[in-house]
Amino acid sequence: MSTASIVSSPANKTRPTFSNCSRAWRRWPGMNYPGNLTAPCRIALALLCTMLAVAPATASHALYDAEGRRLDVEIAPQFSPQSREEVISWTEKLAGSLTLVYGHWPRERWIIEVEATSGSADDPIPWAQIKRGGVDTVKFYVVDNTSAKDLLSEWTGYHEIAHLLLPYRGWGDTWFSEGLATYYQNLLQARAGLISEQEMWQRLYAGFMRGREDSRFDGKSLIEVNRQMRSSGGYMRVYWSGAWYFLAVDIRLRARSNGAFGLDNVLLRLNDCCARDALSVAEMIKVMDSGDQQPVFAELYQSMRNSTRLPDFEPLLAELGITIANGKVVLQSTGKAAQRRRQFLQSTAL
Ligand SMILES: [Zn+2]
Repeated sequence: MSTASIVSSPANKTRPTFSNCSRAWRRWPGMNYPGNLTAPCRIALALLCTMLAVAPATASHALYDAEGRRLDVEIAPQFSPQSREEVISWTEKLAGSLTLVYGHWPRERWIIEVEATSGSADDPIPWAQIKRGGVDTVKFYVVDNTSAKDLLSEWTGYHEIAHLLLPYRGWGDTWFSEGLATYYQNLLQARAGLISEQEMWQRLYAGFMRGREDSRFDGKSLIEVNRQMRSSGGYMRVYWSGAWYFLAVDIRLRARSNGAFGLDNVLLRLNDCCARDALSVAEMIKVMDSGDQQPVFAELYQSMRNSTRLPDFEPLLAELGITIANGKVVLQSTGKAAQRRRQFLQSTAL
């Protein structure tokens, strides 16, 4: 796993909780502390002080990539010291995988928050979300007592951090943002050595199959299904149509440059210009196609939005020397297509 460039802070530092009540009250605008309080209010205040004084600390751990970009990992106090170590070990490797796209993290500073939740060991990260802002925060809800090994094998982590590769404004054309994360969650795991090349293509194939089998909305355009996704479903069609789009674009870019230039380079270009912006998909596509005579992203964008079912993915896989036999991917071992396919395991931008 190529995470050697990730550097931990020399020592864990602990963020103090409020032990001084007046500091806590100053955080609430409009509250006058401590004068003119009624008796029940004074009791409530005393109780709050006590709660804050005994509240266990959130552990914060700083990591740096090779370019000195900083990630703060903030771990909820409910985790035991041992679990905390497991969580830190996981986040170090997870964040390391994100440097395998263009060498550094998307932002100068970002945060991973880890909250404890109850649940089954089979599903160690039941929930995750991203908060975009001056500092992007990825929040994971993690089942306590989970090992770093189990967390590392969960796709959810890679999916969430892959969202940071786009400076997406957070609404409209979610198939685009979800498609990129769905595509890259597999690339990141393979590039980090966590899954084999065979497994990576098997997972992509299995996902495309799920997208095809989610056929309830066949005949409706992707953008229509996307708009109604939260109320009506169709997640598989939406996510995997998006993943199809990015695989198709990546294949085209690599083919026309003989393997020298791919989606990794385009994401780097987008990051260089616009990491701090919140762009619509149309705005991102303009940047992604800039400088290219053939606007690959724009060309496929409209046809993708208008597609009425998940496009056939077998031809894409065939271009990379992949056939399907009894539900399993078969990878050609020699020839130009096989050579091109193996190049997906490395970034074209590194
Ligand atoms: Zn997502």
